[in-house]
Amino acid sequence: MSSLFLPGVFMLLSIVLSGTMTFGQTKSNGLMDIGVAQVDITPEGPIRLTGYAAREKSESKGVIHRLFAKALAFGSDAQGPSILITVDLVGIPGNITLKLAEQLSKKVGIDPAQLSISASHTHGGPEIGILNILQARGKTFSDSLLSLDELIHISHYRHQLSEKLEQVALAAIDNRKPALLSWGQGQAGFARNRRTSGGPVDPSLPILRVADPDGKLRAVLVNYACHGTTLGGDVNRIHGDWISEAQQRIEANHPGTMAMVAIGCGADANPHPRGKIEHMRAHGEEIAKNVETLLASPLQSLTSPPVGKMKWVKLPFAHVPGIPELIALTSDSSAKGYFARLALERIARGHDIQKELHYPVQVWVFGDELAMINLAGEVVVDYSVRLKNELGAEKLWINGYTNDVPSYIASRRVIREGGYEAESSMYWYDKPSPFVEAVEDIIISAVHELLPASLKTVRPETNSPQVVVADADDIIELNAELARAIGPEIKYMPEWKAFGWFTEADRVEWDVEVKRKGKYDVYLEWSVSDEEAGKPFVFEAGKRKFNGVIGKTGSWFTYRDEKIGTIDLQAGKQMIVFRPLSASAKGALLDLRTITLKRMN
Ligand SMILES: [Zn+2]
Repeated sequence: MSSLFLPGVFMLLSIVLSGTMTFGQTKSNGLMDIGVAQVDITPEGPIRLTGYAAREKSESKGVIHRLFAKALAFGSDAQGPSILITVDLVGIPGNITLKLAEQLSKKVGIDPAQLSISASHTHGGPEIGILNILQARGKTFSDSLLSLDELIHISHYRHQLSEKLEQVALAAIDNRKPALLSWGQGQAGFARNRRTSGGPVDPSLPILRVADPDGKLRAVLVNYACHGTTLGGDVNRIHGDWISEAQQRIEANHPGTMAMVAIGCGADANPHPRGKIEHMRAHGEEIAKNVETLLASPLQSLTSPPVGKMKWVKLPFAHVPGIPELIALTSDSSAKGYFARLALERIARGHDIQKELHYPVQVWVFGDELAMINLAGEVVVDYSVRLKNELGAEKLWINGYTNDVPSYIASRRVIREGGYEAESSMYWYDKPSPFVEAVEDIIISAVHELLPASLKTVRPETNSPQVVVADADDIIELNAELARAIGPEIKYMPEWKAFGWFTEADRVEWDVEVKRKGKYDVYLEWSVSDEEAGKPFVFEAGKRKFNGVIGKTGSWFTYRDEKIGTIDLQAGKQMIVFRPLSASAKGALLDLRTITLKRMN
């Protein structure tokens, strides 16, 4: 493992710097009915754009990227189909998702848990819901309404969006035909923690690949945890930011293919660098390039269509102001004062102030191979770190900004620290206060509750070395869990079931009991970034040994399983060692998950 990105807490680092997917063997050649459809959702004319308070107070002037809603429909009618939609928008209002779920339930019998809509969070899309940001005037807020034309354009757009989402969902259902589905993870590197320099980000880049039975690519869904804020508020033209750039490049690389992007727990991550069109293009290029690497690697087959489960939880606000407090706040010139004035208006019209947020948590399970966790709102990175530590990073895919974007979803740590994502953003989102710290546990518990037992096996925090005995077929599985790690940096990473921080001063040893002497083929399952690959290693069993070089896998998140050599083994107890050829060089050697020995006949 390298020491590239983040100093700080190991728990965070282990997600960033190591990684895995068990690639190699695909489990089955099973086909799944999958439908693919898209619809252009670019506004027809000028409209107020959202995302930045500091933006020209006029409607959009032109288009850099067309915006799209893109849908995948999975599974036959008998299996109970599900629909995954991505939209190139800043968010997806919860009531639009609910309305679509109701329509699809009536028209094609889709369960609401089997519908997900993920927004890209581009800051170059039209306003679709919360108007507060458009009321900002420098450091103050205007209480006067937007012009009637502007309100009409926004309302008309919302109405059209609802219709187009139904169209694209039904088109994907109609378009279903047998397909191959697979997934894997790589990584990308342009997200930066925007609260703390060098703070945690989730660099994982999972992809879902949909191909015809003959292997021709039909669609690819990518996820990365980063804001769509490469371009700033000075740009008043419709655009999808790096997300549209990535989609366009992937589609250009594979004519006829549909590329979709969903966003992970990137609420506290901005792209770096940012500000210029060429930065946006470079980020899109990085995603597209890494997707190409993944598409060329062996991916894990998914043969069971997703089964969705959903739970609505209540996220309490820390403080709901009473009327005297709201009145006192009316003179505040910030978003908080604007919230207070709006709240008083609502109270005067007979409504109550929300005490808690009704929050949807959704989990889609693809057999035993993958759990896709769909979280609403702008979710900070700590949720990804925690879920991957608890449940294992090799089977998890986390979408934020999904089904609703009611506010930021801060973690316990971020709420304690305060700042924009924890507090001030809440007033922009028309909420009365920060959340209580317990929201983190409420959301994580709901995810655990929705997952089947097969996808939440408890992971030991540490490995436990023990003697490995050959099985009846003379296959010896040397897992990281069973090895002894020796050296200054090496650590067992439960979320990947692998040794990370495996530098050139580190080694691992297994005590092995070989039943039959003979020649054994040696297979290594490992990952390494392309930058760190290429260092020599030694594999030793008693006096026998061979050398090799660590091959590239594409990223710390992409594991490969390949034969690395052959060795003569004596019967009986012995020690097997995997180590660097030189203990003095600098840098990371690899992340090591398993070495498998198979006796040659
Ligand atoms: Zn945001």
